[in-house]
Formats: sequence, C-alpha cells, structure tokens
Amino acid sequence: MRDYAEVTERLKRLDVPIDLIGTVHNYPIYQIRLASIIGTPKPVLITGGMHGDEPAGVEAVLQFIERDNTALLNKFSFLIIPCINPYGYVHNTRETVDGVDINRAFEAEDVAEVTIIKKALGQTQFSLAIDFHEDYDATGFYLYEGKRNEKYIGPKLAVAAKAIGSIDPDDPGEDAPDLAEGVYKVANSWGTQGLAPYLLHFHSEHVIISETPTVWQLEKRVALHLTILGTALNTVSKKEA
Ligand SMILES: [Zn+2]
Repeated sequence: MRDYAEVTERLKRLDVPIDLIGTVHNYPIYQIRLASIIGTPKPVLITGGMHGDEPAGVEAVLQFIERDNTALLNKFSFLIIPCINPYGYVHNTRETVDGVDINRAFEAEDVAEVTIIKKALGQTQFSLAIDFHEDYDATGFYLYEGKRNEKYIGPKLAVAAKAIGSIDPDDPGEDAPDLAEGVYKVANSWGTQGLAPYLLHFHSEHVIISETPTVWQLEKRVALHLTILGTALNTVSKKEA
C-alpha cells in the first residue's frame, strides 16, 4: 500500500493554489494552477498517476511543482493534475477500483475519474499536454508525440533523454508510426479513448506521452520525465520567441 496522504501533504506544504476537483472512493483528486507572471498564455497541462502502478509520474509531477519555476513562469502557465488514479496509486493497480483502465475510457460516460478530469479541463485549450507513464516490459525509455501541425520535437527530446538512459529497443508496431528512434506518433487510429489522443482532438495542439522503464530506479525514471518536460518547454519557448 502506498500512502496517498503523503502526496496530499506535499501538495499542501506548497505555496500554490490547490483545487479539489473531485473525490473517488474517498480519495481526493487535486489540480494545481501555476499562473504565468506575464499575460495569460495558453496553459501547459501536466498529468501523472493515470495508472496507479506507475508511481514515477506522480513523483515527477510533485518534484516539478516543488522546485522553483520562476523562470518558466515568465513564459508559461500550468495546469497540473498530479494523480489521476489515487485508488490505483495506493493499491498499486493499473486500473481503478472498478477495474477500468482510465487511459482507455475517455469516451465513457460512467467512469468517475474521467468525468472529474473532463470537468476540470472545461473548455480550456492547452499549448502542450504531457502525461507521465511507465512501462513494465521496457528496458529503456520512449515517447509518443501528437502535434496538429506535425512539426514534431520528439527527436530532440529523445536526444536529450539519452543523457539519462538508453532508448527502448522494442518498437510499438504499426499502430504508432515511427517519428524517430524511440519516438512514436499519437496516430488518428487511436481514436479518443486515451487521455493524450483525447486532448489532441479536443484540448491541445500538442501532446506528449513520456514512457520510462519500471526496471530503472525511481529517481532515474523521475529524471527522465523531468528531462522530457524541461526539454519540451525549452524547445517550444525557443520556437515561439
Ligand atoms: Zn501508464
């Protein structure tokens, strides 16, 4: 059993606004908004803990919020949901208490976590959405990217992430076309059952799914996620400058 109260306490210790966006099986789901210092740019969405047995994503989100993001807030605002599936996080299950894989349920009307996330997203349009995952079978990292204008930054992200560890040699197959070594496309054929393709369709011009191998130590997995996020923000801000 993992301690979700610890996650809650770490969030409440921060000097940032925390919204309770819903409660599932007595577990609160929170969102954090980090407002930009200048103007109101389209926010970046950061999510973790969709699959409860992938704790590195939750830890990466927490470490991101806990650090000093003053420089980033000159260019970006953020909407952050640290743990989408707290029941799974506590019980170390991929699915919810009802056995639902949330990342295959975004077209469903009767999944509490999905309803809560959709309500929190509202009508918001994001400039970028990044979702942190882990892979139990992988030996290295990989990522998926979806971008409406198809000007992909994934190859750059993979190069930066190679400083943390190697790329997973297994190819996910034809459902996810290759963009570069270790970089695969969020394809139209995925529909909108998963969070990232759902966001790409309805809420975000650009989505990234960061996948890190569970076989790596937690800190290395967290470092991978934060490197992907940091490099993505850096690359996007340079392109817009
Ligand atoms: Zn996952």
